[in-house]
Amino acid sequence: MSTPHASTPEGLGFDPDALRARYRAERDRRIRPEGSEQYQRTTGAFGYYVDDPYTTPVLGREPLNDRVDAVIIGGGFGGLIAGARLRQAGVQRIRVIEKAGDFGGTWYWNRYPGVQCDIESYIYMPLLEEVGYMPRWKYAPGEEIRQHAQAIGRKFELYDDACFQTEVTRLHWDETDHEWIVHTDRGDRMAARYVVVSSGPFSRPKLPGIPGIENFRGHTFHTSRWDYGYTGGDADGNLHKLADKRVAVIGTGATAIQCVPPLGRDARHLYVFQRTPSSVDVRANRPTDPEWAASVTPGWQRRRRDNFLAHVAGGGAEEDLVADGWTTSARLLQTFVPGGGDSEVPPEELGRLAELADFTKMNEIRARVDATVEDGATAEALKPWYRYMCKRPTFSDTYLPTFNRPNVTLVDTAGQGVERITENAVVVGGVPYEVDCVIFATGFDIGVPPAERAGLDVRGRGGITLAEAWKDGPKTLHGFYSHGFPNFFHLGTLQNAVSVNFVHVLDEQALHVAEVVAEARKRQARYVEPTAEAQAAWVATIRAKARNAERFLAECTPGYYNNEGRPSGRSESYGGGPIEFHELIARWRTDGDMGEVIVG
Ligand code: NDP
Repeated sequence: MSTPHASTPEGLGFDPDALRARYRAERDRRIRPEGSEQYQRTTGAFGYYVDDPYTTPVLGREPLNDRVDAVIIGGGFGGLIAGARLRQAGVQRIRVIEKAGDFGGTWYWNRYPGVQCDIESYIYMPLLEEVGYMPRWKYAPGEEIRQHAQAIGRKFELYDDACFQTEVTRLHWDETDHEWIVHTDRGDRMAARYVVVSSGPFSRPKLPGIPGIENFRGHTFHTSRWDYGYTGGDADGNLHKLADKRVAVIGTGATAIQCVPPLGRDARHLYVFQRTPSSVDVRANRPTDPEWAASVTPGWQRRRRDNFLAHVAGGGAEEDLVADGWTTSARLLQTFVPGGGDSEVPPEELGRLAELADFTKMNEIRARVDATVEDGATAEALKPWYRYMCKRPTFSDTYLPTFNRPNVTLVDTAGQGVERITENAVVVGGVPYEVDCVIFATGFDIGVPPAERAGLDVRGRGGITLAEAWKDGPKTLHGFYSHGFPNFFHLGTLQNAVSVNFVHVLDEQALHVAEVVAEARKRQARYVEPTAEAQAAWVATIRAKARNAERFLAECTPGYYNNEGRPSGRSESYGGGPIEFHELIARWRTDGDMGEVIVG
């Protein structure tokens, strides 16, 4: 590899200007005037796409009319960790309300064949030491993760008061009794001192707005509602009922990268419809080393998570405990990862070096396609032409070789997407590909605020809705709570810090919320609520520290990372990055006297 300081194409081994021009051209031909509006929501006539295929609905349970200490909306890892941390803080009656039939959130819904977590299991799966569990693989299969979610539910006795197959519809703050009144679609009316919303960024599947999509007469489903009744098999594969079926997969994001190999193995014929190729890096999964597992000492998970975060979001650390695609790419790209880089290098030079490192990484990714895929035209179409973090990087050792199978066809749409769907075919470039089944691997509605995503009608003091209070943009203290909405906490991405190991971030958030609640209870307070001043100061901090990611994102190929090619220009993330943010909130808890929140 050439040194990043070389500046001529000869010295570098590639021509940065040519790559920049190629990236720009690939982006330009994908920009759509309708942006995010191009997608079809899974509501109304398309609502059946989100029906739960995994749990039989329980009809007609008696509505609840009772009082609990805390209601948690969402039973994924965010809600489970919040429940665990509140339990550790001494809160007794905790009710998780979840629309699915059990805990797990994204891991409840996503059971497609090949489903696996891209983040190392030892740092991704939460509360391993508390539950006393060691994952079996470096990258855990979805089923193991789902079972771990259930184990957390059992360990922290969150099943006792949980309401599954139930959706919160509205909630309002009762000023007299200082509690929330929570209504659900089951006719429940519950009073709760505290409410925590953790509805997850991936909870609403979306479909492509392809003309004619409603006309298809064959079988169809979204990857997050896998129909094993139709395909046969399970998440380990063996989709034996597809042996005589022609199957279409639409989309080639992180989900498709995982489900295409088992589909390719088992379907009579598989057509993969591609608009933009993903970057596909080395997976190298392996079973957990029993000697290592026996050698870990208390606090090991936190140390490992912090070490990973230092690599992917900070200035690095001497040791790389996880040592995988994320950390090695981050080491290479450190200069462009938020919070990384050497402050003595002028910013422009840092930007130039980051871009060179990025070109180098993406050249490696493209070379891997050439080395794996036998057909030249197919290999060419599978190469991604954009910067590494423009789209979610993916990792697989089986996706690219699947295209060497005679029964698998890549249908590249040259960045335009599928043209049309008819009664029995998917049409691209005027050519109909007749299929029996269409599987949509087209992702989720992202970027919707948590309460809105959960479809919540939230009314705080004076009956003000959250939508009214936030009409000029979100207003929170540290992303967790808002003035006028006492004892109402959000977990998620808004006005706090994010990282690729999102469950780590959720754990830091849940710890914070639980400690605030514990302190309020110690003071025998009925509510906590940020002052308007503290909230305004935090919003100003978010604005002041916002990184200008817009220039970077504007050059990216469209996707949910850049609002489909229209970066909003206003970041709602803490620009100092997650490490600084976690330190900031920890200091706030230990040094302050909670003066920025009203404790009543
Ligand atoms: P994505 O949003 O990442 O991918 C959707 C795919 O559908 C894209 O390839 C998109 O193309 C394609 N598409 C959309 N419209 C059309 C159209 N009209 N014609 C053809 N193709 C179309 O969804 P995923 O479900 O793959 O992933 C969502 C997120 O879930 C990931 O980003 C990741 O964060 C998470 N995930 C995590 C995993 C893990 O291991 N931790 C595993 C799987 C998912 P285009 O790119 O051109 O828009």
